[in-house]
Amino acid sequence: MNPPRLPLCCLPTPVHPLPRLSDRLGLDVWIKRDDLTGFAGGGNKGRKIEYLIAEALARGAHTVVTCGSTQSNFIRQMGAGCAVAGLRCVAVCMDLPYDGSAGKPTQPGVPSTGGNVTLDEWYGVELVRVPDGTWEQLAEATSATAAELGEGVYLCPLGGSTPLGVYAFYQAGLELEAQGPGFKRIVTATSSGSTQTGLAHAFRGTGTRVLGIQCDPEPEFVHDLAALSRAYASEFGGDPLPAEAFEAWLDWVGPGYNVPGDETREAVALLARTEGIVLDPVYTGKAFAGLVGLARQGVLTGRVLFWHTGGFPVVFAG
Ligand SMILES: *Cc1c(COP(=O)(O)O)cnc(C)c1O
Repeated sequence: MNPPRLPLCCLPTPVHPLPRLSDRLGLDVWIKRDDLTGFAGGGNKGRKIEYLIAEALARGAHTVVTCGSTQSNFIRQMGAGCAVAGLRCVAVCMDLPYDGSAGKPTQPGVPSTGGNVTLDEWYGVELVRVPDGTWEQLAEATSATAAELGEGVYLCPLGGSTPLGVYAFYQAGLELEAQGPGFKRIVTATSSGSTQTGLAHAFRGTGTRVLGIQCDPEPEFVHDLAALSRAYASEFGGDPLPAEAFEAWLDWVGPGYNVPGDETREAVALLARTEGIVLDPVYTGKAFAGLVGLARQGVLTGRVLFWHTGGFPVVFAG
């Protein structure tokens, strides 16, 4: 059964080769332009929000409560979705949420003003700012806020990574399959996990393997992806993917979530100066640094797709 969907994005997003970059890397690199999903400044979250908002409306909710970093792309796109659907949007945020085992990064993250925060204001998002802490503390503060608001609240977890978020990216994988040449590898930024999990479900049993480049330092991440896959399979049917079926690379996280490293900055400059395409410092810059690094290590060969997940407004943070 297909879940209800509120069409918001401009789909399908384009797929095209990157000839100048390919020459530089000695690899046949293509790009999937989910930076061009169109709605609310683009990005991968638009695909999930089409389903999440439809579910909130179907449940008769009047308010969406969600969370993220203050500079979250998900909050920005969810805020716009709520505005369109006539829902109130309350978002609990921390400037620099971090993984408990890794601790808080010592270097400053991207600024928590301008960029997405400007757009949040335009969309009427009510930001509830809480002091920096772990991702678990952010989730707890979000549940507490939802409980205070009482009935009619649709609680949406970090990054929209619910079974519906996975479903949205399963559909996105089918969209790519219908568009183009076969790819040996798809490289994507991965963080809350539904983008990678949905794509992995779409390409299971094919010649295409999905590689996630992690944007926050979480060593047990593939187990989170497996848990998300189980939740997805129990709602939508089919067999879940085990942790071993997922490939996630920690090597390009840099100093921590929300903090770009030198490799991130070099990767951003490389794509800008070869193809004129803009990456962001939090997600896609790290993922692209991963693609370049894996190409240099010889892990990537043949035809490879970089899934551009957006994040453009963060360039104007500060
Ligand atoms: C949220 C986000 C990601 C990660 O997607 P998940 O589904 O949360 O793993 C990647 N890139 C950008 C720009 C994002 O905003």
